[in-house]
Amino acid sequence: MINFLKDKCTGCTICKKICPMGVIEMNAKKAVLTDYKSCLECGACALNCEFDAIEVTKGTGCLNAIIKEDILKITPKGTGCGCGDGC
Ligand code: SF4
Ligand code: SF4
Repeated sequence: MINFLKDKCTGCTICKKICPMGVIEMNAKKAVLTDYKSCLECGACALNCEFDAIEVTKGTGCLNAIIKEDILKITPKGTGCGCGDGC
């Protein structure tokens, strides 16, 4: 689940540049998701948004997190997606 908070978005485009799937575009200087099905719910965009304008709940697309957190249990919940937060 991913949600862009329009009121907080400054249009800096960092999320668009960092998204590995290329599913973020700018619309009227606000970030929007263009293809929900292709979003991995990896959280990289939210981690790199300095304005807390993106909320991501890791979903089934984040296989790395599921393996590390839920199957191997080698990382704390919410840290295992490998999207730049040290995991
Ligand atoms: S990184 Fe945050 S503030 Fe910048 S465009 Fe994306 S959602 Fe907006
Ligand atoms: S959660 Fe990952 S795949 Fe989805 S929009 Fe953000 S950076 Fe792109």
